[in-house]
Amino acid sequence: MSKRSIATVSLSGALDEKLRAIASAGFDAVEIFENDLLSFGASPRQVALLCKDLNLDICAFQPFRDFEGMPEPQRSRNFARAERKFDLMQELGTDLLLICSNVSPASLGGVDRAADDFRELGERAAKRSLRVGYEALAWGRHVNDYRDAWEIVRRADHPAIGIILDSFHALAPGFPVRAMASIPGDKIFLVQLADAPKLELDILSWSRHFRSFPGQGDLPVGEFMAAVAATGYAGPLSLEIFNDQFRAGSAAQTAVDGLRSLILLEDQLAPDWPKLISEPLASKAKSRGTGFIEFAVNETKAGELGHLLAQLGFRRSGKHRSKAVERWSQGKVELVINSETDGFAHSHYVTHGPGVCAIALDVDNAGLAMQRAETLKARTFYQPVGPGELEIPAIHGVGGSLLYFLDQAGKNWDTDFEQVPSDAGADALLAVDHIAQSMPYDEMLSWLLFYTGILDLKRLPQMEIADPRGLVQSQAVINGDQSLRFVLNGSSANRTLPARFISEFFGSGVQHIAFTCRDIFAAVAEMRKRGADFLDIPDNYYDDIEAKYDLAPDLVAQLRANHILYDREGDGEFFQVYTHIFDERFFFEIVERRDYQGFGAANAGIRLAAQAREVRPASMPRV
Ligand code: MG
Ligand code: MG
Repeated sequence: MSKRSIATVSLSGALDEKLRAIASAGFDAVEIFENDLLSFGASPRQVALLCKDLNLDICAFQPFRDFEGMPEPQRSRNFARAERKFDLMQELGTDLLLICSNVSPASLGGVDRAADDFRELGERAAKRSLRVGYEALAWGRHVNDYRDAWEIVRRADHPAIGIILDSFHALAPGFPVRAMASIPGDKIFLVQLADAPKLELDILSWSRHFRSFPGQGDLPVGEFMAAVAATGYAGPLSLEIFNDQFRAGSAAQTAVDGLRSLILLEDQLAPDWPKLISEPLASKAKSRGTGFIEFAVNETKAGELGHLLAQLGFRRSGKHRSKAVERWSQGKVELVINSETDGFAHSHYVTHGPGVCAIALDVDNAGLAMQRAETLKARTFYQPVGPGELEIPAIHGVGGSLLYFLDQAGKNWDTDFEQVPSDAGADALLAVDHIAQSMPYDEMLSWLLFYTGILDLKRLPQMEIADPRGLVQSQAVINGDQSLRFVLNGSSANRTLPARFISEFFGSGVQHIAFTCRDIFAAVAEMRKRGADFLDIPDNYYDDIEAKYDLAPDLVAQLRANHILYDREGDGEFFQVYTHIFDERFFFEIVERRDYQGFGAANAGIRLAAQAREVRPASMPRV
């Protein structure tokens, strides 16, 4: 099994904090970045001791720049400089130096010239039992392709000289990975892994700021790894991620995300390359939609929320025998209102205010789901936490909430509920359509890996939502039969704007829950009869869509009168309406889909502006 490694440059903090985060996440090795060492107030020997204490190998020291192909006197100076790095490496206790391809305008081209330089350096390194790996930077002056770097290494023909392969530098420029098969595995000294989202950006900025862990971006890292595995390479797999968000975020979280991405990548390759992994991951549990959604509130808010749910056609269907917990039902939707004054729900309420404290997912095998989640370093929660404190297997999810897993055994979560008779009419709402969760933008990639790694969810293309107050990125993850859809909204607006509305509203957690219905006009009419009132949408919006989609005036009049938003995708149509925001925390959405797969992203800006008008304190200027 290959060692799992990460470059210190990938994390935030001082070198010792990085190393501790890396070790506690469970990595075997690190690449020490020179800058992290230089800016750290301890000697290389002390760093070596710390790594030893933490049980971390130092698999490389990097980077050494602008070495090969230099004219004199720079050439001689470079060898002297390399000798000093060798001294330092011996103090650190690592045997591998990473040299990246020369970007200096002074450098001279020529494969043989570079090969001669490396052969001479190899002689010097070998005297100290050290090794040198050569990496092609995608923006190198003469060498920017791993195939050219390999030709230089091959001609240098020295046991202390090998190649370093980096997935970003091979995949971002679109180089074919097939040629890797001709490199002997023992001449590959290190493999570095990074993914990145597709961006229209020069390759240097793309690499320096937007790399991400495998599985978080759009590059075919799996193909790259399969090509590497074919060479017989058995050295470390090292994550090397330059990303501004990671450098600003929590080192511990980034390290856990990194390890999670490596485990997932190994697992993806395991069928063809069983040598890569020590034991296979538990396969993904099959999700079957939402079992129930639990709200944590206090007694007053429990009454208000129940009132709102009743307006939406929910029946109070159950009452816990001994606790302040109610069950509300409609169609396949089960909601739980928990206003207990202790237990998990209560502490969630105290910390976060009224909101969703737990989402129970129906899965075919809760044990399998928990096993997989644990291997992927999710934080598990085995205490009794279900509604009325039942023990249901759970893991920590977005914003301090929990995800419960319900299989056949968990189906009795409602055993402690007394049925409440009700005389409500036919159910207008059918099921949960999607659950939207908000989070700071820098946490979004983390939750994306969480959902797609642990559950059988696939991501849809990321959408950018036009919000005048800041950028909102929206990323949906859905299961195969679309019975489970999460929409992750990452916003940096809480940093860019001081408005209380934004900062509270975009705190991590469930922002809204959407329910499906068969006929939105009938459903809304029923709800309005019960006193429901919906988010006010400006007239301008209806004038605009009438022209844009060439809608019949009757239909537009109906949409307008009912505050229903409309979207179209090919022949598919989408209708959506929003409740007012509950206690400035969350809201409900009712949707009708007609062969439509999206989430009405085109309307999100309209909705956000309407909500801002509603919630914004009167003293603030109106948009
Ligand atoms: Mg690299
Ligand atoms: Mg929605």
